[in-house]
Amino acid sequence: MDAVESLQNAFVLVQDGIIVNYGEMNKCPNIDIEIIDLKDKWVLPAFVDSHTHLVFAAPRHNEYVMRIKGKTYAEIAAEGGGILNSAKKLHTLSEDQLFDMALKYANQAILNGTAALEIKSGYGLTTESEIKMLRVIKRLKSVLPITVKSTFLGAHAFPIEFKNNHQAYIDIIINEMLPIIAKEDLADFIDVFCDEGFYSVEETKQILDAAIQIGLKPKIHGNELGLTGGVQVAVEFNALSVDHLEHIGDEEIDCLKRSKTMPVALPGSSFFLKIPYTPARKIIDSGLPIALASDFNPGSSPNCNLWFIWSLACLYNGMTPTEALNALTINAANAMGISDTHGSVTIGKKANLMVTKAFEHINEMPYWFTQNHTERIFTSK
Ligand SMILES: [Zn+2]
Repeated sequence: MDAVESLQNAFVLVQDGIIVNYGEMNKCPNIDIEIIDLKDKWVLPAFVDSHTHLVFAAPRHNEYVMRIKGKTYAEIAAEGGGILNSAKKLHTLSEDQLFDMALKYANQAILNGTAALEIKSGYGLTTESEIKMLRVIKRLKSVLPITVKSTFLGAHAFPIEFKNNHQAYIDIIINEMLPIIAKEDLADFIDVFCDEGFYSVEETKQILDAAIQIGLKPKIHGNELGLTGGVQVAVEFNALSVDHLEHIGDEEIDCLKRSKTMPVALPGSSFFLKIPYTPARKIIDSGLPIALASDFNPGSSPNCNLWFIWSLACLYNGMTPTEALNALTINAANAMGISDTHGSVTIGKKANLMVTKAFEHINEMPYWFTQNHTERIFTSK
């Protein structure tokens, strides 16, 4: 993970959105093409953001202030804030209103160098609102110039009215939501928040069993709040990724080593909630890969700038700048199931490239933190 090969004074040749050649400038074919001079700049594979909640109804700045004044995220959630607060607001907005907001955020992400986005539902928590969110994501897929993957996260929380009857809500997910998703082709992936106070391992398995039947691949929110079996259930169901992992022990690491499931760290939410960071150093040193994502959402990570995630990963997850770059590109593409086409400058892959400002060394990119170093982005979906 710590290797990033680079060429100086080089060219990349793109045709019809595909990388068809690259190499040192003296080997650049002498053909009639449009030439873009990028002297002193770097050309990197564009970022891949494999974990976002980009469709939401409103920011949650009031909860931000409550936390500054001493309340915890769990206390706010228990008082009807958190995910349930987002769900309440989302019911009142139309599909068009949600789409307009989400489009604005997606364009912000692209300007920050992101050329593939995974977007989750999960702020609806009723059939009508979950489907509304997924239709918004489907529209984003068709209008954005980048690859978008849609994840159904109806199992993000339990609505208050089902607090004491989990099975009734799970039945709605399985018997009402999933059939509409299958019929309208609304999702690529299924996600469940498998953690303390959310979905148990048994509840998670029930939902995954049903979702796999309609062709959805699992991605799991797990081990954010404790060692609660999220990793094990993700591996058992051959999930593409298991995300969060602020809590991870030797048993979880051994389990991941016997799988193709990509561990994903989300340092933006650790930063914003002031909770522990995923021990990426320990995960990498055990021989595993890791990916990084923004977790962009209004409650715990209102940031879609992956340059900042890069800096956080180096400072607080213990990753080197090159490990973190791989985690934000090729490994993130793997966590989204698109590593055949995205995540690296490789002949035959789609030309998702970004041009950075001038730097002497790649280590400078996360060093100058909180800035957007993307000068230009080329996308192809
Ligand atoms: Zn998330």
